[in-house]
Amino acid sequence: MSIRILTFKGGTHPPHSKKATESLAIERANEPKVVVIPMQQHIGAPCEPIVQVGDEVKVGQKIGEAKGFVSSPVHSGVSGKVTAIEPRLYSGGTAVTCIVIESDMKNTVSDDITPKGSLSDLSAEDIKNIIKEAGIVGMGGAAFPTHVKLTPPPDKKVDTVILNGAECEPYLTSDHRLMLEHPEEVVFGLQALMKVLGVKKGYIGIETNKPDAIEKIFEMAKGIEGIEVVALKTKYPQGAEKQLIHACTNREVPSGGLPADAGVVVNNVGTAAAVAKAIMTGMPLIERIVTVTGQGVNNPGNLMVKIGTSFREVIEQCGGLKGKTGKVIAGGPMMGITQFSLDVPVIKGTSGILVLTEEEARLPEPTNCIRCGKCVEACPINLMPVNLSAYSLANKHEQAEALNAMDCIECGACSFVCPAKRPLVESIRVSKREILARRKKAQSK
Ligand code: SF4
Ligand code: SF4
Repeated sequence: MSIRILTFKGGTHPPHSKKATESLAIERANEPKVVVIPMQQHIGAPCEPIVQVGDEVKVGQKIGEAKGFVSSPVHSGVSGKVTAIEPRLYSGGTAVTCIVIESDMKNTVSDDITPKGSLSDLSAEDIKNIIKEAGIVGMGGAAFPTHVKLTPPPDKKVDTVILNGAECEPYLTSDHRLMLEHPEEVVFGLQALMKVLGVKKGYIGIETNKPDAIEKIFEMAKGIEGIEVVALKTKYPQGAEKQLIHACTNREVPSGGLPADAGVVVNNVGTAAAVAKAIMTGMPLIERIVTVTGQGVNNPGNLMVKIGTSFREVIEQCGGLKGKTGKVIAGGPMMGITQFSLDVPVIKGTSGILVLTEEEARLPEPTNCIRCGKCVEACPINLMPVNLSAYSLANKHEQAEALNAMDCIECGACSFVCPAKRPLVESIRVSKREILARRKKAQSK
């Protein structure tokens, strides 16, 4: 095993803003009295509730069944009584069916929760099934069902698994703390993922601004054949799939292609740890580490939070809001989603709750493009953000499509570097939505 320092072309260097929480150990959040668990926490078809109002449930019990292959079940993180099944606002910005459970504060664990045995005794299929039944999805924010990622099309020859420990989003430190405090789960999870895919090569990519995590994971993986720790240059968006694949393997994912086209499956370190827990303890995905941070919160921290706990409760545990709140974001400042209410639940993809003050959140007025080309230099995908944005704003989405707008990973690097503060990623997002809608319409004809 060796450590190499690698990176990709393009990108930018937003301030890390990680100091407030990077040295704070993970604390267990207070037990929630009520949890609101959305049936749609993942990419794909929403779940269907399999409990009814009035039912008693236990910790780890399945309460929502996956509907279709690209879907993922959900489980209760508390024991108690189902008090409502109804649409509620969630952090994705819409109302979705949620199961509301009042906790009895006893945390009685379901009888079904038992360790699944050693990795050597489990077959690849067994492990994939455990992952599917445990409701494990991408924990880096995308929330794509993991068992689907582990089922590449038969014509794609996957030979490598990469774990993403870059955590390149400013402010967030939940992956950093996980790697420091539970490196055994990360490495075990990687071995499990490699076994499912039958591959011999696994990488764990970590940015150089986390030298202690690099050291910890290096020590933990020492002597395990096929696993390599890769130190990644600290640059945004180092953790994006295509950039990570290029940095670790020097392979390119073709335009419009998937990591499997480059023979790779990428998972977040948090996902690997969830896989490890599901195998070692039998407990499905019922909680996650959330970084609560920003100038607008009194006592930032990294908390282990039960899925379904409200943002409001989590923020209150961190000393509450400080000063005039300007913006609350689920996730980081570059790719996170702005919230309009604190009464939304933490879900499987909630890597952080970022509270910005009014002053920090104030956006400068955009001015005219000065044709400096900085956005083009920063784009990690080699796109022309300035032109894509101009086409989008002029409603010329076909032209944006011809310039590969759909390849945009919405990292926001272009908007960040633009001296004229043009709404680049925002307008490109509009084009992508339009292009997708047109493609769907054409397919249904
Ligand atoms: S065009 Fe898309 S991929 Fe390129 S920098 Fe902007 S947001 Fe990122
Ligand atoms: S960075 Fe901004 S000002 Fe410069 S070319 Fe791009 S859009 Fe124009």
